[in-house]
Amino acid sequence: MGEPSKHHCSPSARLRRTARVVTVATCIGCGCTDDRACPGGCSWIIVERTSGIGVCTRCSAHLDEFHAKVEAALAAREAGEA
Ligand SMILES: [Zn+2]
Ligand SMILES: [Zn+2]
Repeated sequence: MGEPSKHHCSPSARLRRTARVVTVATCIGCGCTDDRACPGGCSWIIVERTSGIGVCTRCSAHLDEFHAKVEAALAAREAGEA
């Protein structure tokens, strides 16, 4: 067992994962997702993958709500990380 350990785990090595990554986002206006676009088609105006929410091109009226939700989610995350 006298082998010198050439590579030991670096103590500064950390998990790269910051937040849970949600792969599919849902529109807060109509509930469409990456997999299920609106009838006729739509795309994201804005999307926040970490929160799993977005606003599609049919729901621009919900942009304010979206920003409020993202801010609330951010605040909750910061509070939880303390
Ligand atoms: Zn929508
Ligand atoms: Zn849509």
